[in-house]
Amino acid sequence: GKNTYRFFSQQLNDAANERLLIESQLREAIALQQFVLFYQPKIDVQDDMLIGYEALIRWLRPDNTLVPPGRFIAVAESTGLIVQIGEWIILEACRFLARQHSRGYAVSVSINLSARQFNDNKLPAMIEQIIHRTGVDPAYLIFEITESMLMGDTDAAIKQLNQLKRLGISLSIDDFGTGYSSLNYLKRFPVDELKIDRSFVKDIPEDRNDMDIVSAIIAMAQKMQLRVVAEGVESAEQAAFLQENACYLVQGYYFSMPLPEQELSQLTFTIKT
Ligand code: C2E
Ligand code: CA
Ligand code: CA
Ligand code: CA
Repeated sequence: GKNTYRFFSQQLNDAANERLLIESQLREAIALQQFVLFYQPKIDVQDDMLIGYEALIRWLRPDNTLVPPGRFIAVAESTGLIVQIGEWIILEACRFLARQHSRGYAVSVSINLSARQFNDNKLPAMIEQIIHRTGVDPAYLIFEITESMLMGDTDAAIKQLNQLKRLGISLSIDDFGTGYSSLNYLKRFPVDELKIDRSFVKDIPEDRNDMDIVSAIIAMAQKMQLRVVAEGVESAEQAAFLQENACYLVQGYYFSMPLPEQELSQLTFTIKT
């Protein structure tokens, strides 16, 4: 009825206003450099060693509140602001990597790419320039993309993946298992790593189904000679299950939350050198 319509249109209005507000705040955040990267350790449980970090963006507002990416990445993506923010993320993560390497740590850094960034044909040249400028060894750079970014125009996607691979970087499929996984395509994508989505990990060891899916993904990754990483590991039981199933690379709160760079020194893992 009329009231219902009014209710929904008011909600739509609020949503649109909220987006506009976030958009103008994001522009300001870019200008005032209010973004920070946190780093979550990636552990190899075979020798309990810290082998890399995933860079995860946060927005530090002037009132000191830390806004998680779930609250602003979508707006950044739809407004195109992600291209600018994304370039900053890559530069900042490469500078971090250079600092780690200068201390003698042979760690990698994983960087999330959004769809808009991935579809930008200037992306490979931009990354190449940043590699050059920061002097990092591209063998330690991993870019994470999701399945859905690959499934539209697969020929264009493969071309872009190959352009990126030519830089000497690694590619990872994030949130694996949640998109339109087509094994047929997976074979054609020049990727190096699969990250098992947290949704399959979180109910281990209660959910038999999820355990079967996880062990199947691990087996498939091995068969395809892809590295496999489990994300969202929160308990000793989950870590043990993954290890028993030969998935040795893990990330999750059980090992460490994402941390700002200055807090990484508190970690007690042995760091790969
Ligand atoms: P993602 O790439 O799948 O990142 C993993 C998310 O899970 C992160 O949330 C991380 O903090 C969280 N996480 C890690 N371990 C655990 C755990 O054991 N339990 C639980 N419940 N969560 C865990 P975050 O940092 O809020 O990021 C959310 C999403 O935002 C990311 O999902 C990614 O899609 C996007 N994102 C984050 N940083 C960036 C970025 O720099 N660029 C782009 N394009 N997207 C980003
Ligand atoms: Ca990720
Ligand atoms: Ca993920
Ligand atoms: Ca995820």
